[in-house]
Amino acid sequence: MPQKNRDRLTILRFPTLSRYPILKHGICSRRGGISATPFKSLNISYNVGDQIHNVQSNLRIIQHAFAAQQLFFMNQSHGSTVISLSNNTEIHHKNIPQADAAITDIRGIALLISLADCQGAIIFDPHQKVVANVHCGWRGNVKNILGKVVKQMKLDFNCQPRQLLAAISPSLGPCCGEFKGYQEIFPKAFEAFSIKKNFFDLWAVSRWQLEEAGLKKENINISEICTRCNPDLFFSFRGERKTGRFGIVAMLA
Ligand SMILES: [Zn+2]
Repeated sequence: MPQKNRDRLTILRFPTLSRYPILKHGICSRRGGISATPFKSLNISYNVGDQIHNVQSNLRIIQHAFAAQQLFFMNQSHGSTVISLSNNTEIHHKNIPQADAAITDIRGIALLISLADCQGAIIFDPHQKVVANVHCGWRGNVKNILGKVVKQMKLDFNCQPRQLLAAISPSLGPCCGEFKGYQEIFPKAFEAFSIKKNFFDLWAVSRWQLEEAGLKKENINISEICTRCNPDLFFSFRGERKTGRFGIVAMLA
Protein backbone atom coordinates (compact mmCIF):
# COMPACT_ATOMS: atom_id res chain seq x y z
CA MET A 1 0.00 0.00 0.00
CA PRO A 2 1.42 3.39 -0.91
CA GLN A 3 1.68 5.91 1.90
CA LYS A 4 0.82 9.53 1.45
CA ASN A 5 1.84 12.31 3.73
CA ARG A 6 -0.95 14.81 3.97
CA ASP A 7 0.00 17.62 6.34
CA ARG A 8 1.44 15.75 9.26
CA LEU A 9 -0.81 12.78 8.78
CA THR A 10 0.15 9.46 7.29
CA ILE A 11 -2.83 8.03 5.46
CA LEU A 12 -2.70 4.68 3.68
CA ARG A 13 -5.00 3.89 0.80
CA PHE A 14 -5.99 0.82 -1.15
CA PRO A 15 -5.16 1.21 -4.86
CA THR A 16 -8.18 -0.96 -5.69
CA LEU A 17 -10.51 1.56 -4.04
CA SER A 18 -8.63 4.68 -5.11
CA ARG A 19 -9.75 4.09 -8.69
CA TYR A 20 -13.23 5.37 -7.85
CA PRO A 21 -13.47 9.14 -7.47
CA ILE A 22 -16.83 8.82 -5.70
CA LEU A 23 -15.21 6.91 -2.85
CA LYS A 24 -12.93 8.67 -0.42
CA HIS A 25 -11.20 6.35 1.96
CA GLY A 26 -8.09 5.92 4.03
CA ILE A 27 -6.45 4.35 7.01
CA CYS A 28 -5.29 7.09 9.34
CA SER A 29 -2.18 5.79 11.02
CA ARG A 30 -1.40 6.91 14.57
CA ARG A 31 0.67 9.80 13.18
CA GLY A 32 -0.40 13.39 12.88
CA GLY A 33 -2.50 13.89 16.00
CA ILE A 34 -1.99 15.76 19.26
CA SER A 35 -2.38 13.14 22.00
CA ALA A 36 0.53 12.28 24.28
CA THR A 37 2.01 8.87 25.10
CA PRO A 38 0.56 6.23 25.33
CA PHE A 39 -2.03 7.66 22.94
CA LYS A 40 0.54 9.34 20.73
CA SER A 41 -0.73 10.78 18.64
CA LEU A 42 -3.84 10.44 16.48
CA ASN A 43 -6.03 8.60 18.97
CA ILE A 44 -9.73 8.73 18.08
CA SER A 45 -11.22 6.86 21.03
CA TYR A 46 -12.86 8.50 24.04
CA ASN A 47 -12.88 5.18 25.85
CA VAL A 48 -9.19 4.50 26.42
CA GLY A 49 -8.30 7.16 29.01
CA ASP A 50 -7.10 9.94 26.71
CA GLN A 51 -8.13 13.54 27.33
CA ILE A 52 -11.45 14.41 25.72
CA HIS A 53 -10.26 17.64 24.10
CA ASN A 54 -7.33 15.81 22.50
CA VAL A 55 -9.66 13.22 21.00
CA GLN A 56 -11.96 16.00 19.78
CA SER A 57 -9.03 17.73 18.08
CA ASN A 58 -7.87 14.47 16.51
CA LEU A 59 -11.35 13.83 15.14
CA ARG A 60 -11.39 17.34 13.67
CA ILE A 61 -8.04 16.67 11.99
CA ILE A 62 -9.52 13.59 10.32
CA GLN A 63 -12.76 15.32 9.36
CA HIS A 64 -10.74 18.10 7.77
CA ALA A 65 -8.40 15.67 5.96
CA PHE A 66 -11.37 14.01 4.27
CA ALA A 67 -13.36 17.22 3.83
CA ALA A 68 -16.27 15.41 5.46
CA GLN A 69 -19.48 17.22 6.34
CA GLN A 70 -19.82 14.86 9.24
CA LEU A 71 -18.09 11.95 10.92
CA PHE A 72 -20.27 9.01 11.81
CA PHE A 73 -18.93 6.73 14.49
CA MET A 74 -20.37 4.06 16.71
CA ASN A 75 -19.90 2.59 20.15
CA GLN A 76 -18.21 -0.55 18.90
CA SER A 77 -18.90 -3.50 21.13
CA HIS A 78 -17.50 -6.53 19.27
CA GLY A 79 -21.08 -7.36 18.40
CA SER A 80 -22.70 -7.83 15.02
CA THR A 81 -25.21 -5.00 14.87
CA VAL A 82 -25.23 -3.35 11.44
CA ILE A 83 -26.76 0.08 10.84
CA SER A 84 -28.11 1.24 7.48
CA LEU A 85 -28.13 4.99 6.91
CA SER A 86 -30.20 5.92 3.90
CA ASN A 87 -31.22 9.30 2.61
CA ASN A 88 -34.37 9.11 4.68
CA THR A 89 -32.59 8.42 7.88
CA GLU A 90 -32.03 11.24 10.26
CA ILE A 91 -28.63 11.02 11.83
CA HIS A 92 -28.55 12.09 15.42
CA HIS A 93 -25.09 13.17 16.45
CA LYS A 94 -25.70 12.91 20.13
CA ASN A 95 -26.97 9.37 20.27
CA ILE A 96 -23.93 7.39 19.31
CA PRO A 97 -25.35 4.03 18.31
CA GLN A 98 -24.18 0.71 19.68
CA ALA A 99 -23.07 -1.08 16.55
CA ASP A 100 -20.02 -2.45 14.73
CA ALA A 101 -20.86 -1.66 11.12
CA ALA A 102 -22.55 1.06 9.12
CA ILE A 103 -23.74 1.13 5.52
CA THR A 104 -24.72 4.27 3.65
CA ASP A 105 -25.57 5.78 0.30
CA ILE A 106 -25.45 9.32 1.71
CA ARG A 107 -22.66 11.52 0.39
CA GLY A 108 -20.39 13.51 2.66
CA ILE A 109 -20.85 11.30 5.71
CA ALA A 110 -17.53 9.78 6.72
CA LEU A 111 -18.04 6.38 8.31
CA LEU A 112 -15.32 5.99 10.90
CA ILE A 113 -14.22 2.78 12.59
CA SER A 114 -11.65 2.75 15.38
CA LEU A 115 -9.05 0.02 15.59
CA ALA A 116 -6.11 -1.42 17.48
CA ASP A 117 -5.49 -4.93 16.08
CA CYS A 118 -9.07 -5.62 14.93
CA GLN A 119 -9.80 -5.53 11.21
CA GLY A 120 -11.47 -2.56 9.61
CA ALA A 121 -13.24 -3.61 6.43
CA ILE A 122 -14.50 -1.27 3.74
CA ILE A 123 -17.07 -2.84 1.44
CA PHE A 124 -17.94 -0.75 -1.59
CA ASP A 125 -20.49 -1.11 -4.36
CA PRO A 126 -19.41 1.06 -7.32
CA HIS A 127 -22.68 0.31 -9.17
CA GLN A 128 -25.21 1.18 -6.49
CA LYS A 129 -22.83 3.75 -4.96
CA VAL A 130 -23.06 2.34 -1.48
CA VAL A 131 -20.32 1.92 1.08
CA ALA A 132 -19.94 0.07 4.37
CA ASN A 133 -17.33 0.33 7.08
CA VAL A 134 -17.00 -2.59 9.45
CA HIS A 135 -15.24 -3.33 12.75
CA CYS A 136 -14.25 -6.97 12.75
CA GLY A 137 -12.14 -8.40 15.54
CA TRP A 138 -11.95 -12.12 16.25
CA ARG A 139 -15.38 -11.89 17.85
CA GLY A 140 -16.63 -10.27 14.66
CA ASN A 141 -15.21 -13.17 12.70
CA VAL A 142 -16.91 -15.63 15.04
CA LYS A 143 -20.21 -13.78 14.51
CA ASN A 144 -19.50 -13.44 10.78
CA ILE A 145 -20.24 -9.73 10.79
CA LEU A 146 -18.76 -9.45 7.28
CA GLY A 147 -21.33 -11.88 5.91
CA LYS A 148 -24.06 -10.03 7.80
CA VAL A 149 -23.04 -6.69 6.29
CA VAL A 150 -23.07 -8.11 2.75
CA LYS A 151 -26.53 -9.53 3.37
CA GLN A 152 -27.80 -6.21 4.65
CA MET A 153 -26.26 -4.31 1.72
CA LYS A 154 -28.26 -6.64 -0.51
CA LEU A 155 -31.50 -6.23 1.42
CA ASP A 156 -31.43 -2.50 2.08
CA PHE A 157 -29.53 -1.17 -0.95
CA ASN A 158 -30.02 -3.83 -3.61
CA CYS A 159 -26.27 -4.52 -3.84
CA GLN A 160 -25.10 -7.60 -5.72
CA PRO A 161 -22.30 -9.39 -3.83
CA ARG A 162 -20.42 -10.16 -7.05
CA GLN A 163 -20.05 -6.46 -7.70
CA LEU A 164 -18.77 -5.59 -4.23
CA LEU A 165 -15.17 -4.64 -3.51
CA ALA A 166 -13.77 -5.32 -0.06
CA ALA A 167 -10.58 -4.05 1.56
CA ILE A 168 -9.22 -5.05 4.93
CA SER A 169 -7.07 -2.71 7.02
CA PRO A 170 -3.81 -3.34 8.83
CA SER A 171 -4.68 -5.57 11.78
CA LEU A 172 -3.32 -8.46 13.81
CA GLY A 173 -1.46 -10.72 11.39
CA PRO A 174 -0.97 -14.48 11.48
CA CYS A 175 2.52 -13.72 12.86
CA CYS A 176 0.92 -12.42 16.07
CA GLY A 177 -2.50 -14.07 16.01
CA GLU A 178 -2.06 -16.31 19.01
CA PHE A 179 -5.28 -17.61 20.57
CA LYS A 180 -4.63 -19.91 23.47
CA GLY A 181 -7.79 -21.77 24.33
CA TYR A 182 -9.11 -21.23 20.83
CA GLN A 183 -11.23 -24.37 21.23
CA GLU A 184 -13.42 -22.39 23.63
CA ILE A 185 -13.91 -19.37 21.38
CA PHE A 186 -13.59 -20.41 17.75
CA PRO A 187 -15.96 -22.60 15.74
CA LYS A 188 -14.50 -25.82 14.36
CA ALA A 189 -14.35 -24.37 10.84
CA PHE A 190 -11.65 -21.89 11.92
CA GLU A 191 -9.19 -24.74 12.52
CA ALA A 192 -8.54 -24.74 8.77
CA PHE A 193 -6.98 -21.31 9.26
CA SER A 194 -4.55 -22.31 11.98
CA ILE A 195 -0.98 -21.81 10.78
CA LYS A 196 0.74 -23.40 13.78
CA LYS A 197 -0.18 -24.37 17.33
CA ASN A 198 -2.53 -21.69 18.72
CA PHE A 199 -1.86 -19.28 15.83
CA PHE A 200 -4.60 -18.27 13.39
CA ASP A 201 -4.74 -16.31 10.16
CA LEU A 202 -7.79 -14.13 10.66
CA TRP A 203 -7.11 -12.37 7.34
CA ALA A 204 -7.75 -15.70 5.64
CA VAL A 205 -10.87 -16.22 7.77
CA SER A 206 -12.24 -12.87 6.57
CA ARG A 207 -11.39 -13.64 2.96
CA TRP A 208 -13.23 -16.94 3.28
CA GLN A 209 -16.25 -15.29 4.92
CA LEU A 210 -16.43 -12.64 2.19
CA GLU A 211 -16.19 -15.27 -0.52
CA GLU A 212 -18.91 -17.29 1.21
CA ALA A 213 -21.01 -14.12 1.15
CA GLY A 214 -20.67 -14.04 -2.63
CA LEU A 215 -17.73 -11.69 -3.25
CA LYS A 216 -15.31 -12.53 -6.02
CA LYS A 217 -11.86 -13.54 -4.88
CA GLU A 218 -10.22 -10.85 -7.03
CA ASN A 219 -12.42 -8.17 -5.42
CA ILE A 220 -11.07 -8.83 -1.94
CA ASN A 221 -7.99 -6.89 -0.96
CA ILE A 222 -6.14 -7.44 2.30
CA SER A 223 -3.45 -4.98 3.29
CA GLU A 224 -1.45 -7.75 5.04
CA ILE A 225 0.19 -5.31 7.42
CA CYS A 226 0.32 -6.47 11.03
CA THR A 227 -0.49 -3.77 13.58
CA ARG A 228 1.47 -5.41 16.35
CA CYS A 229 4.59 -5.62 14.19
CA ASN A 230 4.35 -1.92 13.21
CA PRO A 231 4.02 0.09 16.43
CA ASP A 232 5.43 3.23 14.80
CA LEU A 233 2.41 3.38 12.48
CA PHE A 234 -0.43 1.72 14.36
CA PHE A 235 -1.85 1.29 17.81
CA SER A 236 -1.81 -2.33 18.92
CA PHE A 237 -3.81 -3.51 21.89
CA ARG A 238 -1.88 -6.75 22.05
CA GLY A 239 1.44 -5.00 21.84
CA GLU A 240 0.75 -2.04 24.14
CA ARG A 241 -2.40 -2.75 26.17
CA LYS A 242 -2.89 0.88 27.30
CA THR A 243 -2.94 2.58 23.95
CA GLY A 244 -5.05 4.53 21.48
CA ARG A 245 -7.21 3.65 18.50
CA PHE A 246 -6.50 4.57 14.90
CA GLY A 247 -9.19 5.14 12.33
CA ILE A 248 -10.32 3.81 9.00
CA VAL A 249 -12.57 6.14 7.02
CA ALA A 250 -14.94 5.50 4.12
CA MET A 251 -17.10 8.20 2.55
CA LEU A 252 -19.04 8.78 -0.64
CA ALA A 253 -17.91 12.10 -2.05
ZN1 LIG B 1 2.71 -9.45 13.65
